Amino acid sequence: RAPATLETATGPALTADGERVAILINVADPSELSDVPVAICDGIGLARTELMFNAPGAAGIGTSGGTGTGGGAGLADEETQLSAYRRLLAWADGRPVTVRTLDAGGDKPIAGYTVPNEANSFLGMRGVRLSLKHPDIFRVQIRALLRAAAEGEIRVMVPMVSVPSEMRQVREMVAAAAGELAAEGLAHKVPPVGMMVEVPAAALVLEAFDTDFVSIGSNDLTQYVMAASRDSADLHDLADPADPAVLALIATIVDKAGRRAVPVSICGDAGGDPAIVPALLDAGLRTLSVAPAAVGRVRRAVNDYRSAAA
Ligand code: PEP
Ligand code: MG
Repeated sequence: RAPATLETATGPALTADGERVAILINVADPSELSDVPVAICDGIGLARTELMFNAPGAAGIGTSGGTGTGGGAGLADEETQLSAYRRLLAWADGRPVTVRTLDAGGDKPIAGYTVPNEANSFLGMRGVRLSLKHPDIFRVQIRALLRAAAEGEIRVMVPMVSVPSEMRQVREMVAAAAGELAAEGLAHKVPPVGMMVEVPAAALVLEAFDTDFVSIGSNDLTQYVMAASRDSADLHDLADPADPAVLALIATIVDKAGRRAVPVSICGDAGGDPAIVPALLDAGLRTLSVAPAAVGRVRRAVNDYRSAAA
């Protein structure tokens, strides 16, 4: 699967003004990583975990086979998840590994877990909404993440957060899981817990959220700002992450995060588009998480960038 264009340059990515820009990678399937030299990036900015629950041959939710703690019949159990997170940590070799909690629903259905035939699935039960509705399943993922965090630089990222109470509930579940693991004598650590900002409501009142970091999900943010579905060919031109309205909201997010010294990055596809990278850097972003195959072109776009202020 090695993309012919895979980056080989290593070391910090610098703008033409000499400013450092961190470039991390997005991973959907850990097997992608075997061809990627870790030295080309600054870590994993988004590890999707949907595949663990939905891959052919994986223990899917609602099927038989799961044996882990409290998982219910058949989901990827705690030990299976822990070993997947360990593989990411081993690959990252000390760099941060940002694991997104299960982001099912919308364009990512999981049989037996997501709500079938929702009239408007992108506005329905997705991401953290589903996780909070299925605390038994969410709890297993949180336990596995806390155990992995004892062994490396895990960061937990929560998708589709819309209101502050969702982050509060997640934190309560994290604290409860830490208590359980302590009582069981299992090594664990509470990692940074951050949120994706991909719902305009969260972007507009970001200061109200208890979050250790934020990562902008420009794919969903764009469709919600533009009221244009991300998967419609007819609306492709309208669902433009470089639309001034989307860029204005991205700049707002970066500003609000900066005022609270909350680290901010982008992990949507816009970050991997060299035509959009200058606008993202203008908006103040200095951490981009992109597909492995995009690292080279993003690095070159960063190298060419000179800030208007400089
Ligand atoms: C996004 O919405 O930009 C994002 C990174 O998440 P996903 O594409 O998996 O919804
Ligand atoms: Mg998203």
